[in-house]
Amino acid sequence: MFLLISCKKLVLDKHKLELKDQKEEFDMSTIFAKIINKEIPADIVYEDDLCLAFRDINPQAPVHILIIPKKQLPELNHAEIEDQQLLGQLMLAAKKIAAKEGVADAFRLVLNNGAGAGQEIFHMHFHLLAGRSFTWPPG
Ligand code: 5GP
Repeated sequence: MFLLISCKKLVLDKHKLELKDQKEEFDMSTIFAKIINKEIPADIVYEDDLCLAFRDINPQAPVHILIIPKKQLPELNHAEIEDQQLLGQLMLAAKKIAAKEGVADAFRLVLNNGAGAGQEIFHMHFHLLAGRSFTWPPG
């Protein structure tokens, strides 16, 4: 009897996992996931094993590049301790891209976390902005 109940629970747990996986698959359908999968074009300026960077379609500065993790993290809020390497690599990618773009001396890195902060695409990303002067505080 005990064994029977345990088995049922295992099946239910497996079902939950499958549902969770399906949801993550659904979340992967952001426009940025399509760019990662090369399903839609983008002006890619940098790529490594964990990160991808491409020019923003609606640039807010002469240099406006989006730096994204290949892993699906909807917001920085979803990052965990195991994402430490990834988060560090995104920052180092920003430094390399700024150098490559000739703006290493003055650039701004922006991350909007959550709709209230202006996030529209729920695949975590940094905006690398440069080539004009910036005000502070930001709007
Ligand atoms: P957020 O507001 O989420 O921080 O920034 C999203 C950014 O993605 C915006 O700056 C927007 O212009 C950019 N964006 C939206 N759709 C596309 C696209 O299809 N291609 C590219 N390259 N950028 C996009």
